[in-house]
Amino acid sequence: MQDSFRHQGLRKKLVEELIQKGINDQQVLDAISEVPRHLFFFDTAFLNFAYADQAFPIGSGQTISQPYTVAFQTSLLQPKKREKVLEIGTGSGYQTAVLAKLGVKVFSIERQHDLHLKATALLDELRIKARCFYGDGYKGKPAYAPFDKVLITCGAPFIPEDLKAQLKVGGRMVIPVGESQGVQKMMTVDKLSENEFEVSEHGDFQFVPMLESTERSK
Ligand code: SAH
Repeated sequence: MQDSFRHQGLRKKLVEELIQKGINDQQVLDAISEVPRHLFFFDTAFLNFAYADQAFPIGSGQTISQPYTVAFQTSLLQPKKREKVLEIGTGSGYQTAVLAKLGVKVFSIERQHDLHLKATALLDELRIKARCFYGDGYKGKPAYAPFDKVLITCGAPFIPEDLKAQLKVGGRMVIPVGESQGVQKMMTVDKLSENEFEVSEHGDFQFVPMLESTERSK
């Protein structure tokens, strides 16, 4: 399936809707207008809704995030060109693609093998550069740390220590924190020094849960 003028028109409408909802970061809006979200719908039953501002199932019990949520989280992250960004929860790869369009170096982890394979294949096909890993997001990616930014796209029960440790001093984490079946608070965690963090809240959101892997020792 290809991109078309119709899809581009639908994306333009989506961007207008996001502006009305308060998104004003032009770079983020440009990235959203460039990424063909309809190609990230692994469950084609929902294809007609690809440019509705909603989350939809992508298989393996997971969802592609709502465009507003992607735009909001990306705006909070304030990514700058060439920064190293760690994403937890590749899912469809849509958020990964939006980050890549912003010119950052993306490292993304997914714990569902099937989704990891599908997202990696799709990003390759679209020639979108990102390094995707199959693994447990709670552990981060120490081999590539430290990261300028860390973005969590699933609802975390707490702020994982390993991810705080892998953040650069001066860096920022964006993470929805709350109970797995309920509502999460969007939080920014700014690393002020090796052991000082400033946490701020940015409203309520709903994500699929960040699941702990069974071999996790804690
Ligand atoms: N960024 C994605 C959102 C997918 S939903 C998109 O734009 O489509 C969140 C994803 O987080 C799911 O695919 C889920 O499998 C994954 N996830 C949940 N717990 C995780 C963990 N501990 N480590 C890595 N990925 C995790």
